[in-house]
Amino acid sequence: MKKLLFLLIFCTHSFAALIMEELTWESGDTLLMFLQRHSIPLALYYELDREDKELASEIASKIKYQVLKDENENLEQVLIPISDELFIHIYKNKDNKYMLDFSPTIYELEKNVLNLTIKNSAYQDVYETSGSTTLSRALLRAFKGSINFRNIRKNDKVSLYYEQKRRLGKVYGDITIYMASVQVNKKTSEVYRFDDNFYAKSGKEIGASFLLTTPISNFKRISSHFTTARFHPILKKYRAHLGTDYAAATGTPVLSAGNGVVNFIGSQNGYGKVLKIQHSSGYTTLYAHLSRFAKLKKGQSVRQGQTIGYVGSTGMSTGPHLHFGVYLNNKAINPLSVIKVAKKGLEGAKKEKFNALVKEYKQIVQNHISQNLPNPIKAMDYENFIEF
Ligand SMILES: [Zn+2]
Repeated sequence: MKKLLFLLIFCTHSFAALIMEELTWESGDTLLMFLQRHSIPLALYYELDREDKELASEIASKIKYQVLKDENENLEQVLIPISDELFIHIYKNKDNKYMLDFSPTIYELEKNVLNLTIKNSAYQDVYETSGSTTLSRALLRAFKGSINFRNIRKNDKVSLYYEQKRRLGKVYGDITIYMASVQVNKKTSEVYRFDDNFYAKSGKEIGASFLLTTPISNFKRISSHFTTARFHPILKKYRAHLGTDYAAATGTPVLSAGNGVVNFIGSQNGYGKVLKIQHSSGYTTLYAHLSRFAKLKKGQSVRQGQTIGYVGSTGMSTGPHLHFGVYLNNKAINPLSVIKVAKKGLEGAKKEKFNALVKEYKQIVQNHISQNLPNPIKAMDYENFIEF
């Protein structure tokens, strides 16, 4: 069935006996190495513009990608995911010439309500009801350590209102929780999503158990924000930017956003001189286009705020800036959603908007409970877009 769908959707011309394979992107592999290995012209990479080259550096290790081959093992098409919403598409045009573009992933969004009574633990019960470990993890993350999930007892209740993506019939990718309600020993705690952050019903932001600090001592401006896919109206193509760019003078110190261990220091095609730091709780940060590194080695521990390198313009860059990426379990997330900011409550117009959302979300979940509506069908063939 999967094979058939693949052919129907992606086959541009008809060949006999095409074989679809799902493969795993090995860590350390690059798009350039991939093209070389399959005797695909390297010009496909070299002719990409600066931002697309940078994007091509974002293929996550261990990600599943798909190839379509003919009976002689020649690649007809390749689909390599870059984010939940974008993939690299390599294919042959009608002149049998290889082409490469970035295509949006076509998916449907569905909003669901899930209610359950605890039998074992929140993590396990949410997983067993939904079939999704991503949902379990998203629930734990939403509360940011503000409640102790270990104190949940049998017969406590959990309610979730969330949005998930579905592609070719399968659930995949990140899940957005809009509202989560958890009883801990009969005491109910609720969080509501607003502007990419979680707030208590009072409008007070939930304290994060893991926080990063701005990774640069001073910068002129944020020159590019995080997006997982967006259509560029002038270039007429799809783009993503999986990090935050800070425009700053060459040589400006770059600081470690948190305590951690250096797990990569060196050069990478699009990102030039790049450094990666592994933090606790599955977070990794990336600092790209550096002019030089501080005296550091792979495996060395760094403290939050420690100078780890200096702003530059190495790799695919048009001017000096720091490209700062944050990854949670190998997947790029918006750096600004985990950067430390002064915690204060919502006020004014924002508070009003938030209150309206709280009312709406609460109503949706309440209706579900009072009408005794069933939970969403358990996703049996749940597809983790990126292997965790
Ligand atoms: Zn960037």
